[in-house]
Amino acid sequence: MRIDLHTHSNRSDGTESPADLVRRAHVEGIDVLGLTDHDTTEGWDEAAVVAAGTDVTLVRGIEVSCTFEGHGVHLLAYLPDPTHPELEHELRRVLDGRNSRLPATLERLRGVGIDIEVADVRRVAGETAAMGRPHVADALVSLGVVADRNEAFNRYLGPQGPAYVHRYAADLESMIGIVGRAGGVAVIAHPWASRHDHRALDAAGLAFLQEVGLAGVEVDHEDHAPATRAALRAVADDLGLLVTGSSDHHGLGKVGHDLGCNTTAPDQLARLLELAAAASEESGRRTPDIFRT
Ligand code: AMP
Ligand code: FE
Ligand code: FE
Ligand code: ZN
Repeated sequence: MRIDLHTHSNRSDGTESPADLVRRAHVEGIDVLGLTDHDTTEGWDEAAVVAAGTDVTLVRGIEVSCTFEGHGVHLLAYLPDPTHPELEHELRRVLDGRNSRLPATLERLRGVGIDIEVADVRRVAGETAAMGRPHVADALVSLGVVADRNEAFNRYLGPQGPAYVHRYAADLESMIGIVGRAGGVAVIAHPWASRHDHRALDAAGLAFLQEVGLAGVEVDHEDHAPATRAALRAVADDLGLLVTGSSDHHGLGKVGHDLGCNTTAPDQLARLLELAAAASEESGRRTPDIFRT
């Protein structure tokens, strides 16, 4: 059984539609696919329709932009009720922050001599509900300023770049609580990726977050070197956190993240689904989405 629990469609910064993503998963022999667009559930329904016609099981998720102790953390929320008021409200705030960052980013790019307008970004961003730096990067590619997204991040959009602008992200601790109350399961994405500052997510930090409802950590991810995976797995095992693995596939938007390049063990998925069923029952919601497809 091949289980890939973290992927992106073009409703955030992937390059495939949700339907095409599920079709690709089917062709490539993925049995269980997590669709986890950044800060939005917009792709779920389209993905579910296609999944229902194949033997791919869709796990509906969101990769929520959070902050913990002053640093960015990505939280994977699996199977929450998307209509839960607190969750909807926080996602709205994050998406509003994305939208208001865009003009500021473009202003900075113009400040370093690049002629770029919102329309240039909207044109390449297509159907995204979560406007972000990857779309600005795509616009810079379309204008011939850089060769690819990676160069755009390295030269302009990364945290040290001249066009970097801060945006709102949810408080990690409260988002873990919200995900639980919405009947979902909270797993930290790539907690020890070198791109992020992860001092706060050491064993003590993870133990604290587990107390407020964190269920697991993503261990097998391309941004974790083998030694990092081993060390994080040891911490997770010690704490009794569940362990996931995934591609973080973005279509053509990120190289080296092919579907299924990392996978989650079946027993870990089974635990995740048990926790989702329990959280769901506790939340008062009747049927978690996964049991409907
Ligand atoms: P944002 O959410 O708008 O702040 O942009 C962050 C997103 O950009 C992340 O989710 C990554 O998927 C993507 N990203 C970050 N660095 C790179 C890179 N070097 N090349 C391509 N995509 C990147
Ligand atoms: Fe992304
Ligand atoms: Fe991420
Ligand atoms: Zn991701």
